[in-house]
Amino acid sequence: MTTSPKVPRPKPGGHVADRLHLPMRPLWGCGICRAEWPCESARAALLIEYRDNLVALRVYLSALMAEVDAQLSQVNRPSDLCRRFLSWVG
Ligand SMILES: [Zn+2]
Repeated sequence: MTTSPKVPRPKPGGHVADRLHLPMRPLWGCGICRAEWPCESARAALLIEYRDNLVALRVYLSALMAEVDAQLSQVNRPSDLCRRFLSWVG
């Protein structure tokens, strides 16, 4: 019982999230392309990441949408958050 097979694992430093278009709080613009998040690149990446589980993606985006709503409502009235966050998911 001393065998410990080495399972190849992704390097921590090379995680794909480093290159993702991520939201910049509290204004929720993309940190890379400055578009409203989720920008097109972020959407594409999310669809790939959650391609087998779009339900989880919707749950995730719904949670983010609630956070955006709370944060942006202090700055200006968020409009169309549903379309921005959910309508593009499959
Ligand atoms: Zn972007």
